[in-house]
Amino acid sequence: MAKYAELLPRFLKYVRVETRSDPESSTIPSTPKETAFLQRLATELQDIGLSDVRINPKNSYLLATIPSNLGESSKIPTIGFLAHIDTADFNAHGVNPQVVKSYDGHSKIPLGKNGQYQLDPAEFPALKNYAGQTLITTDGTTLLGADDKAGVAEIVTMAEYLMAHPEIKHGTIRIGLSPDEEIGTGADHFDVTDFNADFAFTVDAGPLGELEYETFNAAAATIDIAGKDVHTAVAKGAMVNAIQLAIDLHELLPEHDRAERTEGREGFYHLYRLDGTVDHATMKYLIRDHDKAIFEDRKQHLRAVVDRINQRCGADRVHLTLRDQYYNMREVLEKHMDVVELAKAAMEDLGIKPVIYPVRGGTDGSTISFMGLPTPNLFAGGENMHSRYEYVSLQTMEAALDVLLKINALNVENHIK
Ligand SMILES: [Zn+2]
Repeated sequence: MAKYAELLPRFLKYVRVETRSDPESSTIPSTPKETAFLQRLATELQDIGLSDVRINPKNSYLLATIPSNLGESSKIPTIGFLAHIDTADFNAHGVNPQVVKSYDGHSKIPLGKNGQYQLDPAEFPALKNYAGQTLITTDGTTLLGADDKAGVAEIVTMAEYLMAHPEIKHGTIRIGLSPDEEIGTGADHFDVTDFNADFAFTVDAGPLGELEYETFNAAAATIDIAGKDVHTAVAKGAMVNAIQLAIDLHELLPEHDRAERTEGREGFYHLYRLDGTVDHATMKYLIRDHDKAIFEDRKQHLRAVVDRINQRCGADRVHLTLRDQYYNMREVLEKHMDVVELAKAAMEDLGIKPVIYPVRGGTDGSTISFMGLPTPNLFAGGENMHSRYEYVSLQTMEAALDVLLKINALNVENHIK
């Protein structure tokens, strides 16, 4: 008998619904499929008996409240739990999850029937951690969408569990399920006042124990280069080849500081797009660093490199647009370490070793923390996210749910004693 009977069926139901977000869209949410799924979840939360269930029309966050059962006078901080309903930039049409019961920890798991793809422990060594567990995988044609429907299923099941067990005491709990995390825009429209929590957690990190409160500082750079195309026969001294300027510019950036050559706390300039003709070229970079000062230096260095190319040209041929995307939430969380400690204590009480390391990316919590709501990221369970090799363990999902309930319990204990 599963610990939380509805967790697995609920998760399987969710992943079958296509909710891939669309980076080209300018609507909120970016696709009507996300709206449909959010409405369906709203009905489910109402049926479970939650209060104030509504979709904020401005940001499309689905919000709901589990009211405190401690009486009006109690001063227990309100905890928020957040997860995103959209899936990443990979085929999500017709997700057909496979359930592998009592995995042996060493066999290859075929994905689908044609044998083209498989989960092989030689390639994915983390599989060895799951001996004896129930794994949910894809059929090889799509991603799974455990990122972040594992988080959504865990939060909804937590709500259902608490509503079914009024003897478990808890403060006010706020739930926020959001669109468009994967395209990096969902949290931009988050409304801290409307959400009305004292602190929150996104349930969107990976395997057992992950607890993230340090992310990159991030900026995006677009560089437009105007060349001058003339016939090659008479090019000398007249042609300005925009592609060559792009190459020259890239070579002025530090050779080591690339995504594929860095790890840990090392930052980088990541050239991820280059389009060019002699007449015109466009370069797109991601700039990343955990350290705010070095992050600012990196942007300054790119500006200086652009200036240098322009000076060489004797004209403003290169134009740089820089946009900050998100910042390292550690800057905020350092002032609210009690929130991180609460999550740590919950895991330790349950015998789960917290796994804390600086994330080489961002989470919705990076944006939301800087809006004034401290929001670290808790594990939801997924492995190999954003790919056909994505999988999740049911036991890890159950452990994530245990952690959510334990966080609520410790929050009460810490303030009633
Ligand atoms: Zn995610």
